[in-house]
Amino acid sequence: MSMLTVLRETLGGFKSLLVGMRITAREAAKPLITVQYPHETLKMPGRFRGHVKLILDPATGKSRCTACNLCVRACPSDCIDVEGLKREGEKKKSVTEYVLDFTTCSLCGSCVEACPSDAIEYSKDYNVVSRNREDFGRIDLVKNLQGEAAVWTKNHPTPQPAPATAASTGLPAAGNPVAASPSASASAPTTPASASASAATVSSVPATTPPVAGSATTVGAPPQVPEQKST
Ligand code: SF4
Ligand code: SF4
Repeated sequence: MSMLTVLRETLGGFKSLLVGMRITAREAAKPLITVQYPHETLKMPGRFRGHVKLILDPATGKSRCTACNLCVRACPSDCIDVEGLKREGEKKKSVTEYVLDFTTCSLCGSCVEACPSDAIEYSKDYNVVSRNREDFGRIDLVKNLQGEAAVWTKNHPTPQPAPATAASTGLPAAGNPVAASPSASASAPTTPASASASAATVSSVPATTPPVAGSATTVGAPPQVPEQKST
């Protein structure tokens, strides 16, 4: 081996070393992207396909599924079972059972595309793990939606009737100087019984429920970290 070859190989090796050190230094200066799983979970990108799930209609707090069975017919793997019921006073059926066999689902998306009511979508759940295959043979999507529906109900309290006012009841308001005047007393005499009834009426109206700070999907669930771009 000539001296020239040795020199060329030495320089080539040194250049390769510098390139490697430059990459190492650049990556070392970047913020950490390690996710402390399972204490933290990733926010999955919009195009991620988890198993199919029912969508909660934000206007009604219920599923939009009308049990039309179009998704069942569109599924090439025959892995959906849907049952519905037409309730009194409703024009369309409501879903009562939506069972997915995830062991044979190929995530082809035919069911999502076939749905005329936009009632199903891919979930972002990637923590689908078990030692038992049967755990995924019958995923009850209606039951899964109940948790979201409970949160929706908490955040949309039923409007309470307005508290009774002095004008509506004909009783003098407490601390109102007009009510203490002789004329007012004469037109609407205050008796101990009526006063206690008035207090009972007001106290029986519960205070408006304050908005819930967290939701069942966040409380107790591991914090999510933003989606990371792969290098
Ligand atoms: S994604 Fe495809 S295979 Fe899976 S349930 Fe829907 S239609 Fe069936
Ligand atoms: S999910 Fe859509 S297509 Fe399937 S039964 Fe419900 S409304 Fe019909």
